[in-house]
Amino acid sequence: MTTFPRRIALLGSTGSIGRQTLDVVRRFPDHFQVVALAARSNVTLLAQQVQEFHPSLVACFADTQGVEQAVRTQLPEAILGPQGLLAVATYADADIFVAATSGLMGLQPTLAAIGAGKTVAIANKETLVMAGHLVMNAAHRAHVAILPIDSEHSAIWQCLHGESKSEIRRLILTASGGPFRRASLEQLRAVTVEQALAHPTWRMGAKITIDSATLMNKGLEVLEAHWLFDVPYEQIEVVVHPESIVHSMVEFIDGSLKMQASLPSMHLPIMHALAYPTRLPSAETGLVRDLHWPSVAHLNFEELDIPRFPCFRLALEAARLSGTYPSALVGADEEAVELFLTGQIGFLEIAELIEAVLERHQSISYPDIAATIEASAWARAMVRTLSKSSVRHI
Ligand code: NDP
Ligand code: MG
Repeated sequence: MTTFPRRIALLGSTGSIGRQTLDVVRRFPDHFQVVALAARSNVTLLAQQVQEFHPSLVACFADTQGVEQAVRTQLPEAILGPQGLLAVATYADADIFVAATSGLMGLQPTLAAIGAGKTVAIANKETLVMAGHLVMNAAHRAHVAILPIDSEHSAIWQCLHGESKSEIRRLILTASGGPFRRASLEQLRAVTVEQALAHPTWRMGAKITIDSATLMNKGLEVLEAHWLFDVPYEQIEVVVHPESIVHSMVEFIDGSLKMQASLPSMHLPIMHALAYPTRLPSAETGLVRDLHWPSVAHLNFEELDIPRFPCFRLALEAARLSGTYPSALVGADEEAVELFLTGQIGFLEIAELIEAVLERHQSISYPDIAATIEASAWARAMVRTLSKSSVRHI
């Protein structure tokens, strides 16, 4: 797919990645056109986006009656419910489907988009973590490309341009370390929602920001990298890099190391996925700030202190156990993060609950889509049950 304008179907248009995707479209009107948009509950913003971008198809999941009512008055043409998401994912006039919801909701639309032959630009890492085997197999069968938006994976992808997979020695994901890189276990116990939402280098949606504070996000990214690049877990490493300037690296068998760098920006990986293999000139757009090396002065790299960040260890354990463990991990994490965000559990209880759920999980090998969704739903329910009881461990 090399021609422009590319026609985009965007799922999750009102979120952090969704809005930044529309920033890119706004700056490059000759390259991109929005043909379909979907969101869940932010009807006011969705209606503004419809006014500005004139998509031919609009969908709103509308998870409450209040939202449904707002859709009926502000966007009467919108398709409601899950079928709207599938309609956006498979919209005949779209070339690229951008999966920018968080959590489980992106899975079925992504598989549907692949089935309809769309190129998929994927931010929604939970879909790959839970069902990487289904997504990548389906993409392989349908000869469609799955292009990463997550900054680390975009970095690895860019390092791999022109390289051969058989010559990779290691993928090295960088992690900012989040807001609690230096915090003691005692300090972690007392972390407030506000502190956990204040990420030092990235502005993102609430779920991924908490995942970045617990380092669950980096664990999920290891699984995401495994599926996207078909590299074994033993060859994927993580290094803490607080400045978030080197977005990830690839080491090759001859010992050469490539890294991709920029000031922290999600616009850049979004542009790369949408325009690939073309590189778009960003200088005039204000989307990617120039990197002025003397003012960077130092780039630091340190080892990740896993004992203080049990969520990272749990993600790697789920990866090693495979089956439906990664789905249970994603479901348990979604629910636990929600409980934390609503003040119902403390910061360290996120990991405690996820661990207790994984200990109780009965995994199925090579799960299909139904088993994948079922494992995630089971884990969510189990987190709710365990959060109300004082006995968390077997
Ligand atoms: P946000 O929470 O900011 O946005 C989520 C979006 O998904 C919103 O538009 C929301 O709609 C929509 N949505 C949620 N549920 C549904 C549903 N059932 N039907 C339709 N739309 C739905 O998340 P982010 O943009 O931060 O993250 C999106 C994904 O990208 C995540 O998987 C995250 O891990 C990944 N990612 C994000 C990065 C970032 O910088 N933000 C960086 C790298 C990866 P509404 O607002 O209307 O409720
Ligand atoms: Mg990332």
